[in-house]
Amino acid sequence: MSKQLPRRGSEEAVSRDDARASLIDFRSYLMARGHAPRTLDLYCAVATHFVNWLCEAPGEQQHIGARSVSHFLHEHLPDCRCPHSVSKDLKSVRAALNQLLLMQGQDRLRPSVPSASPAIEAQIGRFDVTGNPLAFFSSRL
Ligand SMILES: [Zn+2]
Repeated sequence: MSKQLPRRGSEEAVSRDDARASLIDFRSYLMARGHAPRTLDLYCAVATHFVNWLCEAPGEQQHIGARSVSHFLHEHLPDCRCPHSVSKDLKSVRAALNQLLLMQGQDRLRPSVPSASPAIEAQIGRFDVTGNPLAFFSSRL
């Protein structure tokens, strides 16, 4: 299930104002989840990059969803020449866009091949759910 960005009139492109509004929502969402300021800034910059790319995509592809995120990660990012791209680190970009998907009420992307043992993946899953990296570590102090 994907959510289409709101459109203004019959324009094919996603309006910059609508996209910017989604990004403001995303910042608020991350703040409410207690992300550290540095992580919040990185995730918002990644989301801005993604939304800018999405605004340039053909009309039928202008949806925030697993398909567009996957396309962005695997097709666009490796060859990205965008002037304001902040990160090409796949794990960071995927983590940021997973949060964007979750904010939209969608499922997060899963890596196609597990990168670690199930026990480690479970720990990482707990870490992601809290949204607060300090909570993960403080529970072990
Ligand atoms: Zn780019």
